[in-house]
Amino acid sequence: MHPNSTILEMLSLIYEDLDIDTIEERFVSLVAELFPFDRVGLFFVKHKKGLLQGKLCRGFGEGSISTIEAPIDGQYLITRPLVTGFPVWNESSSNDPFLCNLNLNHFALIPVVNRKRIPCWQITDCRAEDCPAYGRQWLRCWLVTGTKCKDKIQRSVEGKTSLCTLCPVFTSQDNNAVEGIMLVDGQTPIDDETVTILSIIAHGVGSAINNSKKYTNVLRESIRDDLTGLHNRRYFNERLLDEIERARRYGGKISLLFGDIDHFKNINDQYGHPTGDAVLQMIAAIFNKKLRHSDIVARYGGEEFAVLLFDNTPEQAKTIAEGLRLAVEESTLPTKDKIGVTISFGIAWISKETSTLEGLIGKADKALYSAKAQGRNRICMAPSQEEA
Ligand code: GH3
Ligand code: MG
Ligand code: MG
Repeated sequence: MHPNSTILEMLSLIYEDLDIDTIEERFVSLVAELFPFDRVGLFFVKHKKGLLQGKLCRGFGEGSISTIEAPIDGQYLITRPLVTGFPVWNESSSNDPFLCNLNLNHFALIPVVNRKRIPCWQITDCRAEDCPAYGRQWLRCWLVTGTKCKDKIQRSVEGKTSLCTLCPVFTSQDNNAVEGIMLVDGQTPIDDETVTILSIIAHGVGSAINNSKKYTNVLRESIRDDLTGLHNRRYFNERLLDEIERARRYGGKISLLFGDIDHFKNINDQYGHPTGDAVLQMIAAIFNKKLRHSDIVARYGGEEFAVLLFDNTPEQAKTIAEGLRLAVEESTLPTKDKIGVTISFGIAWISKETSTLEGLIGKADKALYSAKAQGRNRICMAPSQEEA
């Protein structure tokens, strides 16, 4: 087998997965398998906190990588690749407080970059046609020796560091362009060629991680309501169908709560639509706080909320709804005139005569209608199910 086919095979395994943890696991395995290193570690960036956090490793003692948390600062060797975008190798770890305890021999720190870099000759309108970087889309110019930047031939990759960090290829990058850092360590010095190959693999992995994040966000947005962050109606109905089917097969109790804010139109009319929106967000926060993680909560319509409860008797469901009703009644917006609302609930549950989505929703809706008709700010149980 051609030696490169192993690399290609492993890379395709990395790219075909959309789960970040799996991508990272495979990345570390790939590097450990293909290169003669004793130890491999992976760190990821917590952009909001400005920290580099240890995550995965092969060959390092348990906890020695995962407990590392380093501030992103060019003065530390471990985070320098995040600041410069450039790998670190052929250096001593003794002055770095985060690396000095790892007893490293010959090591390299490779940034896991997630952005497509624009080739240097495109960005600078360079005309050096005899430069090895000229016209190449795939070439990482900053890792290639003998380039002719600014009419000076740069012979070593290492010697290019200071020049490259000032180049638009690097300065056009934003801070979020680096996902993490890979640390490799072994018995023999690491040459420029190996650093180049590791950087190319890491760049591909960075792109795969970035795609995975985008996919997860799209997925999350497609099942959530923009304003409140609760699940949307489509997701709720799909889950309800699944759960009804599960209950039909294996048994199990399901209760459905429909809540509708009382006289909500008045809030909009009196205080304006943005205040109405703030009230909806307040109600969503109350539901999130009061309900369990396993309960499914959705914004079912404009000012309507739906909750799916599992393993509760109808009476227990009523108690939970009562808790929500009271919490809404007692809450106000943190504004000068302390705007508050009340909410009414209708409750239905799975039983022999109510075992379809339409049946369950119909009954919860009817019960809600009764709660409104009886004066609002109250809970009604589905009538024909009262004694179930
Ligand atoms: P009831 O007690 O009978 O439920 O009275 P209500 O005023 O709450 O009911 P109605 O159905 O007459 O009005 C619901 C209002 O909810 C009307 C609509 O403008 C408002 N609404 C729906 N979606 C949104 C939204 O996203 N933001 C805001 N601010 N208002 C919304
Ligand atoms: Mg309504
Ligand atoms: Mg209403």
